[in-house]
Amino acid sequence: MSNLTQNKLPDDIVQHIEHLERVRRDFIANVSHELRTPLTVIRGYLEALIEQNDGKNPSWDNIFKQMHQHSLRMEHIITDLLFLSRLETTEQEVVYQKKLPIANILTAICEDARQLSQQQHHISLTKDSDLYLDGIAEELKSLFYNLIGNAVKYTPKGGKIEVVWKREKDQACFKVIDNGIGIEKKDIPRITERFYRVDKARSRDSGGTGLGLAIVKHVLLRHQGELIIRSELGKGSEFCCLFSKEMVSVGK
Ligand code: ADP
Repeated sequence: MSNLTQNKLPDDIVQHIEHLERVRRDFIANVSHELRTPLTVIRGYLEALIEQNDGKNPSWDNIFKQMHQHSLRMEHIITDLLFLSRLETTEQEVVYQKKLPIANILTAICEDARQLSQQQHHISLTKDSDLYLDGIAEELKSLFYNLIGNAVKYTPKGGKIEVVWKREKDQACFKVIDNGIGIEKKDIPRITERFYRVDKARSRDSGGTGLGLAIVKHVLLRHQGELIIRSELGKGSEFCCLFSKEMVSVGK
């Protein structure tokens, strides 16, 4: 039986696809890297111009401030793109730290989220302090920041955000529940794609890069985790990350 009839691609085609994937990843990483330095220089000059103008010419002041904001946004996009390409390319060198104190990490991140929300949301944390995870702290922090930050961005003022860290049978579960704007059923399968936003203008206005959930998806891939999204338009959303028992430990 030929490879094709067995529903398997021939080896040379697989190799070609892998090569194209590598070219795509390298291209994104190189472009992001090359753009970073000129952008930093432009932002630096804009900061100097804002300081020099110092309200002397209000119309220029406004223009410089808008340019500065856009340069910051571009820098955020580049930082996220570089982080994402690191997640995609370093599979071989992954070193997991043992027993990360997730409850402590989440306490600090929820405090930051309260600052970000300017105390406009009620953010609660329910945690199991005896539950630990093996992993890469920087990547897991980024996952937590992205999901909690999204709950703040997409929940109107006065809304409720619950963060949960608990055991679920022999797995560990990190969950963020909000009563915000929610997501339509048809959009849910697509929101982890790079730059997919349900409402582009809203995402931009709230400082989103459109890469947060793509980062979450890749971090979970590297931590034997899965993402389960439940949401209802106008009612709210639940983002649940389940980590497999191999990564989890309980007690001191
Ligand atoms: P962004 O930077 O645009 O927030 P993300 O990748 O983090 O990018 O999210 C992709 C899209 O998923 C968002 O633009 C938004 O439309 C939707 N989304 C993510 N989290 C939530 C949430 N908690 N409530 C409603 N919509 C959300």
